[in-house]
Amino acid sequence: MRVAVLGCGQLARMMALAGIPMGMSFSFLSENNEDTAPVAGLGPITAMDEDLSSHELYEALGKPDVVTVEREQCSLVPLQRLAEHCAVHPNPQAIYQCQNREREKQLLIHCQVPHTPFVSVASADELQSAVETLGFPLVIKHTEQGYDGKAQWRLYDQNDVQNFIASAHFERQSDNASPYVAEPFMDFEREVSFIGVRGVNGEVRFYPATENVHKNGVLLHSLAPAPHLSDELIATGQAGLKAILEHLDYVGVMAMECFVTSSQLWVNELAPRVHNSGHWTMHCAVASQFQNHMRAIAGWPLGNTQLTSVAAMLNLLGIELDQDNQLEDDATLDWYNKSVRPGRKLGHLVINDQSTDGAIERLNRLKQKIYRD
Ligand code: AMP
Repeated sequence: MRVAVLGCGQLARMMALAGIPMGMSFSFLSENNEDTAPVAGLGPITAMDEDLSSHELYEALGKPDVVTVEREQCSLVPLQRLAEHCAVHPNPQAIYQCQNREREKQLLIHCQVPHTPFVSVASADELQSAVETLGFPLVIKHTEQGYDGKAQWRLYDQNDVQNFIASAHFERQSDNASPYVAEPFMDFEREVSFIGVRGVNGEVRFYPATENVHKNGVLLHSLAPAPHLSDELIATGQAGLKAILEHLDYVGVMAMECFVTSSQLWVNELAPRVHNSGHWTMHCAVASQFQNHMRAIAGWPLGNTQLTSVAAMLNLLGIELDQDNQLEDDATLDWYNKSVRPGRKLGHLVINDQSTDGAIERLNRLKQKIYRD
């Protein structure tokens, strides 16, 4: 089974590292001079060239049986071209729906999934209407730019609104989508994510919901299963994700990030791909999210999504691990082969423990050791 991945970052790396033991071979398509170090040695890398015909692109990637992506912010052109020759999972239309926050919210509305309230903003007047509807503080997000908390702004008063307007670019985005969405600043108790996988035959499986802590909009650590999440909220989350997967006729892994208030779940964002909050599955689930994504897109039976222990994951953000002093027993290191830059996702540690309290205690200790805060 030959697999081509659009993207050359850590998610592409971990997909390949899951697929190779199952006999798959990989090639990678890089875009926009991206850093390809994470996939070095895992298969040939082709740079995207718009002048390549669909057949030339297919040949350059080694005639893959199936193509997948490691990110939703990608050009759909190569995917549409490759779809003339082989399977593309998830399908380009599903990626298109999730590439723009306004379209993504329309998808949530269509599938009747509870989501963060929002107002589309395409002008200064619409921003003022959003303030009237949602009140302060509000979060304004670009619909197509930014990830990990980038290209989003918090507005606390009219002064912030005027400053934002002065630097905003109110151009319509792809297919006339608004450039921004405004959301109320959600006073959530915690954040959780649901990760599901859908096979070619329509079977859907879920990993246990995961609790996530972000710092400056970037995931810092995760804990699974999310402690004390009611059966009702788990059922709501899983039903919502299943409805989305089915509506999109989606094949592969999808993540759904949510805010949790006292008794409600509000979907914040979808990721049509494997997800950072599921990295713990590499070491604490029977079949990891990466293995299951590969199995799904290959048309093979899905693997067991059950936990083998309680799991905690700590991201290494802009920081190198001091292996001699910080790599503890029962903690596993995954390093992405990237150069060190402030705040950059460089690797992660997964801790497995028999109890939630034990995992939390060890996570906190490790966090203090590594980040010294
Ligand atoms: P996003 O890029 O939408 O995934 O946002 C990154 C992180 O910023 C989220 O995981 C939250 O921690 C925070 N955030 C995003 N939107 C909101 C909101 N409307 N209210 C409060 N916090 C938010």
